[in-house]
Amino acid sequence: MPENKSTQLRPETDVLTRGFDPSLSVGSARPAVFRSSTYVFSSPEAAERAFDIMGGRAQRTAEENVDLVYSRFNHPNAQILEDQIIPLEPGASAAAVFNSGMAAIMTALLAVLKPGDAILYTVPIYGGTQTFIQGFLQPFGIQGIPVPAGRSEAIDQAIRGSRNLRVVLIETPANPTIVMTDIRRACETVARLSGTPGNGSSSPERPVVMIDNTFLGPAFQHPLALGADVSLYSATKYLGGYSDIIGGVALTRDLGLIGKIRSKRSLFGNILQPDECWILNTRLPAVTLRMNRQSKNAQRIAEKLSGHPNIRKIYYPTLFEDPDQARIFHGQCDFPGGLVSIDLKGGKQAAFDFLRNVRLARNAVSLGGVETLACHPRSTTHSAWTAQDLDEAGITEGLVRISCGIEDWRDLRADFEQALDSISVSPASTPA
Ligand SMILES: *Cc1c(COP(=O)(O)O)cnc(C)c1O
Repeated sequence: MPENKSTQLRPETDVLTRGFDPSLSVGSARPAVFRSSTYVFSSPEAAERAFDIMGGRAQRTAEENVDLVYSRFNHPNAQILEDQIIPLEPGASAAAVFNSGMAAIMTALLAVLKPGDAILYTVPIYGGTQTFIQGFLQPFGIQGIPVPAGRSEAIDQAIRGSRNLRVVLIETPANPTIVMTDIRRACETVARLSGTPGNGSSSPERPVVMIDNTFLGPAFQHPLALGADVSLYSATKYLGGYSDIIGGVALTRDLGLIGKIRSKRSLFGNILQPDECWILNTRLPAVTLRMNRQSKNAQRIAEKLSGHPNIRKIYYPTLFEDPDQARIFHGQCDFPGGLVSIDLKGGKQAAFDFLRNVRLARNAVSLGGVETLACHPRSTTHSAWTAQDLDEAGITEGLVRISCGIEDWRDLRADFEQALDSISVSPASTPA
């Protein structure tokens, strides 16, 4: 691969030209799918060398081609996909692909956390991530410290005040109320910890900052460029883009860290399978095109629907009222993205009527696909929360989350308007 040339290319070009050498797939213009579970060594010496490198007893040299061994550790389709995705994430020099977003998050966390450590995380956070921290890491002796998304001062204090802090995990924007957390500020606070005597950390290493970038990345938000160490994805969402694949990715600039993550992946056996890698590989060149269209659709719809008599509030970055949230959005994101949440007057009944009456949008969880989806977080994705936590986070009975697709926005707007107009509860009859 022309590694030296490709580093000068822009992401949209680079994603189409790197990662894949047709001569290694008998000249095929698209990669073959290598479904083999095991690989034939070029010599016994090459086999020994591959195991030495895998076992950390030797370092691969820059020019060296190491023989593949076994597909739980690595396979050509994962390598192709990992090379191809790097240019989409500014600042990344390595990637690891997983068989789900949860697998990526879990493996990245377990690559650095050990009993006695603490992990700070923003709430609300993806339900699976929260359950993993509270229900799995905590019983193993890793302390979970929740901090409210978007509250920079409180996050700074928690970073400075937590003992044995090993990971800061930020999900931004938070789901479903689109609260944004300042990535750069958290990274700077973490960077100032190192070398500060008495910061409570027993480890000389500073905490690792990981960002769940599923909602706005890779097109609109670039955590590594803002100072974060790891950018994590559920590739099931925008990267996959068609609601037909489950996958995950971890990206970093730190080759030592990717080595630790990959060695845990080899152990857990959660690498993305060859066929799935091939599918994801076909989706990446158009991810920026799709996301741009989804963001434009969402913005037009959010701005046109705002002020509708049946809507109490619309959550969307260009409609932020809080000046600090607007500041974070403008400083951190290139575009506002494809997710809109609308809080309906008339509570749950109104939200259910709306979901029943939309004709184009489908009532489903998940997001990021080319088709528009809508769901009621309080009774589905966030149903495990207590009423008090839901109320505090603004996840009301009337809240509907919409993931905009690539349809013509005028059709979507007309559909949402007819669904809003057909809500049968009178707005005055039920409190929001
Ligand atoms: C969907 C999602 C996940 C989990 O991803 P899976 O691919 O379902 O395992 C994690 N984080 C966010 C923000 C998500 O939306």
